[in-house]
Amino acid sequence: MSDTPVERLVIIGSGPAGYTAAIYAARAQLAPILFEGQSLGGSPGGQLMLTTEVENFPGFPEGLQGPEMMALFKKQAKRFDARMVSEDVIFVDFSKRPFVIRTATQEVHAQAVIACTGAQAVWLGVPGEHQYQGHGVSACATCDGFFFKNKEIIVVGGGDSAMEEALFLTTFASKVTVVHRRDTLRASKIMQERAMNHPKIAFVWNTEVKEVLGDGSRMTGVKLFNHQTNQTTDFSADGLFVAIGHMPNTKIFEGQLELDQKGYVVTKPHTTQTSVEGVFAGGDVADHIYRQAVTAAGTGCMAALDCERWLREKI
Ligand code: NAP
Repeated sequence: MSDTPVERLVIIGSGPAGYTAAIYAARAQLAPILFEGQSLGGSPGGQLMLTTEVENFPGFPEGLQGPEMMALFKKQAKRFDARMVSEDVIFVDFSKRPFVIRTATQEVHAQAVIACTGAQAVWLGVPGEHQYQGHGVSACATCDGFFFKNKEIIVVGGGDSAMEEALFLTTFASKVTVVHRRDTLRASKIMQERAMNHPKIAFVWNTEVKEVLGDGSRMTGVKLFNHQTNQTTDFSADGLFVAIGHMPNTKIFEGQLELDQKGYVVTKPHTTQTSVEGVFAGGDVADHIYRQAVTAAGTGCMAALDCERWLREKI
């Protein structure tokens, strides 16, 4: 028998879902430990740490900065004595209870776990892309499209997401150019037709973005490479929306929890219960559809309530 003390609840991940789960669990006297993680740019808080202005979270009529919002979530969780650990969880064992949760420096045992490790946009990985994130470069039109009124925007990708982002952005932008690496789209026929028939949307085929150009504070365009003609050109634009897919942060759960084909955690319908009894999931790690801060906070709350009920009834 290990003499490591057994915690009631460990929450893994610190976006809106993780912090909301912590607020609810701490108020329910579960004394949660929340592993905030360090992987996104060395700071906890999840994808909102890479956003600038957030204007669509209810209750903040003036809007606020993504990192500022996450600091408020954290402050609220701390008010109820949720314990925060600024480390990445690198290993879990959910094969038996108590569950094992390990970081580079410590091992914790817990009766229940809430997984809120989120997801991340797949980025191009080209020079300038990271530097201008939040300053022209985005992976979320719903979040950032509003800031591009009468601006010229590039969308990269040829799938449904890219078409959806391009169509959504026409509400604001004066022109949207879809840059796709092939000469046929992967998107569904109906989305293709909508995008192709839209007067504000143009297509550049067989072309890749090789670099994001900027003046040091904002992006000003991109360097394009057409691999049919082998030509490189500079293309002016105010914004770049990368829509080449999302990836859930579920590496540590492989072989432990049921994941779907795309790697998202599978939860039982209308609950946050995963395939392992006592392990719950909230936020984008189990949601590839809505992916909003407010929906993540909502499912984080659900996970804490499901967990509290489960602990009360089963442990
Ligand atoms: P996706 O279907 O996998 O498409 C990704 C696109 O990005 C592809 O066109 C791909 O090019 C391109 N791409 C990938 N890596 C790239 C790179 N490094 N550089 C340049 N281009 C790159 O992903 P998705 O569009 O996010 O859609 C994911 C799933 O959600 C799909 O099943 C989709 O149908 C669904 N979805 C549905 C809707 C809707 O129905 N309204 C909306 C959004 C998403 P290639 O084509 O050359 O591979």
